Amino acid sequence: MRRNTAFRLSLLILAAFIAMPVAAGRGEARGAAGPPADWRRRWATEPVISIFLDDRGYAIYLPMEEYLTGVVAAEMDPDWPVEALTAQAIVSRTLTLKYMELGSGPRKIHGTDACTSPAHLQAYGPARSNAAVRAAVASSRGQVLTYGRDLIFAMYSNSAGGLTATGREAFSGLEPPAPYLASVPSLGEAVTPPSEEVWRAAVPRWELEGAAGAPLGSSQNLTVSRYGVSGRVLQFKLGKKTIKAADLRAALGSDRFRSTLITSIQQTAGSVIFTGRGWGHGSGLCQHGAQALAAEGWRTQAILAHYFQGAAVERLWK
Ligand SMILES: [Zn+2]
Repeated sequence: MRRNTAFRLSLLILAAFIAMPVAAGRGEARGAAGPPADWRRRWATEPVISIFLDDRGYAIYLPMEEYLTGVVAAEMDPDWPVEALTAQAIVSRTLTLKYMELGSGPRKIHGTDACTSPAHLQAYGPARSNAAVRAAVASSRGQVLTYGRDLIFAMYSNSAGGLTATGREAFSGLEPPAPYLASVPSLGEAVTPPSEEVWRAAVPRWELEGAAGAPLGSSQNLTVSRYGVSGRVLQFKLGKKTIKAADLRAALGSDRFRSTLITSIQQTAGSVIFTGRGWGHGSGLCQHGAQALAAEGWRTQAILAHYFQGAAVERLWK
């Protein structure tokens, strides 16, 4: 069974990205201990990376490709079409290298290149691996997504609810801008289990007030004050206070308040009932969308070109 892990990537990752200087990745303003100016040279051969095992409390070292086999096996259902698994492999390879380039996420938390917590980077479950997963990683060996001179922020989430979020919608303050994280139709509904596609969260008013840090007052005064281009809520207004939808989602729990693609808000005396679509930040690769496209016969390159507009696939190591 799929473990619905990718959506947890959202806030922590971007908090790490946003905190980095704009020049990160271009090799500027880095000390002698930093990576070479050209990240392509740094990764001309497959790196061996350090992986902190969050459930055991120590680190192991693995060649990148072996690590990725465990990531793809955990982040997607290993029985999905191989073209979708291959897209996940390229996305996860790119994201891991982007973290290493920026020195963010696991490096800050554990002092390692990667870890096994989906809340910190990506899930890792080598025991779930099968022949299709191994083929997906092997056939895409060394391949990453780039845009211009840079590795992209290869974001992904479980399901985008029919339309992906722009980078700006999903991660306010994303720097540098990521035009390849555009809003595109995502066709995953046909294959997304209804329990993962539509969600409902009843939030007691006291809890909402606590999360927002503002009283709701006696009237039913929670409203949406800003929408993004894909229809996601960017900002709520509670009484006189505004709060970013992504912040409210993080405060209430991203497994419970699964997306900012809100379809209704019902207010009762004691609680506010949110319903929405999709699971995760919704930007970049939609995993269920990739599953659906692959089942329709799309090749990996076409799937990636759809979700990362204008990005290219490059091979770093042979
Ligand atoms: Zn961790």
